Amino acid sequence: MAIAKIDLNLCEKCAVCNAMLACPIDAITHHWSEDLVRNGPVEIDTKRCLGCGKCERVCRGKAITMS
Ligand code: SF4
Ligand code: SF4
Repeated sequence: MAIAKIDLNLCEKCAVCNAMLACPIDAITHHWSEDLVRNGPVEIDTKRCLGCGKCERVCRGKAITMS
């Protein structure tokens, strides 16, 4: 089964992470930056990922791939 992987170099740290909103099991976390002012890295819990691909379809930066 393919699971979601994120390329943090492509992630745009969107103010609202569409991928996080789309995930049906809340496997995507949008962290704050270290100074707690900006949006920080997005993390995918690959152990829980169902492989549905919803996050990949809506990610604005095309940062998520299924593999
Ligand atoms: S939608 Fe994609 S590019 Fe934007 S914060 Fe989420 S994972 Fe990053
Ligand atoms: S593939 Fe589906 S279950 Fe896995 S992180 Fe993306 S939206 Fe969530």
